[in-house]
Amino acid sequence: MAKRDYYDVLGVSKDASEAELKKAYRKMALKYHPDKNPDNKEAEEKFKEAAEAYEVLRDPQKRGRYDQFGHQGVGGAGGFSGQGMSMDDIFSHFGDIFGGAFGGGFSSSGFSSSGFSGHSSGRRRMSKGSNLRVKVRLSLKEIAHGVEKKIKLNKYLPCNSCHGTGAEKGSSKSSCPTCHGRGQVSRITNTFLGQMQTSSTCPQCGGEGEIITNKCNVCHGNGIVKGEEVVSFKVPAGVAEGMQLAISGKGNAAARGGVPGDLLVVIEEENHPDLIRDGNNLLFDLYISFADAALGSTAEVPTIDGKAKIKISPGTQGGKVLRLKGKGLPDVNGYGRGDLLINVNIWTPRNLSREEKEILEKLKYSPNFKPNPTSKDKSYFDRMRDFFSG
Ligand SMILES: [Zn+2]
Ligand SMILES: [Zn+2]
Repeated sequence: MAKRDYYDVLGVSKDASEAELKKAYRKMALKYHPDKNPDNKEAEEKFKEAAEAYEVLRDPQKRGRYDQFGHQGVGGAGGFSGQGMSMDDIFSHFGDIFGGAFGGGFSSSGFSSSGFSGHSSGRRRMSKGSNLRVKVRLSLKEIAHGVEKKIKLNKYLPCNSCHGTGAEKGSSKSSCPTCHGRGQVSRITNTFLGQMQTSSTCPQCGGEGEIITNKCNVCHGNGIVKGEEVVSFKVPAGVAEGMQLAISGKGNAAARGGVPGDLLVVIEEENHPDLIRDGNNLLFDLYISFADAALGSTAEVPTIDGKAKIKISPGTQGGKVLRLKGKGLPDVNGYGRGDLLINVNIWTPRNLSREEKEILEKLKYSPNFKPNPTSKDKSYFDRMRDFFSG
């Protein structure tokens, strides 16, 4: 039998959005669900057909190939073959289609024999320690080079007395009588799809499947105690204010031997006395005298690691930006380095002596002192415009 067009199967247009596909598939899945159509071969075929269409169209790569080459494009080796799609595969989608409730725990009376009731049984919950969040303040120099930090944390640590088990020495854990060690309790409910078995975490053991008969008297059965730990970690070069590093397993210890949480390190940046950070670039405002601007000179500018000498060409205009390539910060993802941008300001004296005034009065009407900007002397507003138009 020739395969039907996937878009026709789901009853959507060729340019259907992801949400439209999902909605259409959801409708089909509900209509032809085997629980609602017992012993109906045709409904089962339609159910599988819709699942196959959705499996292909939900994946942008497969959808692209299907649009270009039709069924040929998504069959064959490495592609998708509807025949191979088991009911397990189909139901594995239901988590995102029906919003989780049906995901792992989906087990209807009609299907438990086909094997997917296995999703819901025997899943004990491991406890997980909570995450810890700390702030570290870094200087621009530390950010430029990366730094290793050592901090003392107040946190939950595994209890030494019971080695984190929560049980008093010599005593042992026993299987939870409520869930018989499964960690989950099941309930049969009636829904629009027929009878359905749902599972939830066992209230007595909290999903661990075991209970402690004789609790450790140091940690009262929790397996964790408050304590201090010194943790060291590397901060990569180029980080910025507000970034967060996750240091796996360095958060709070988990109750009774579970998985520890993570340590989340939030970066704070200290202001540099002279340099301003702008992404990976650094900015510096340089003030030079009118005489140096006219005659040419050299100037010293601060850098992350010290100072650099720069040349001021004769005739430098105020507002000129000089660039020291590579003297900025390294990119945190390794994409090169920023620059140090030096904004040249010409200092106009506020107080003048009688002699200085006389000299300036003499120069005032000299033709060379009359402003005569050319196209290469871009004004502040010209530069703003260039900046905003990219
Ligand atoms: Zn203990
Ligand atoms: Zn239990």
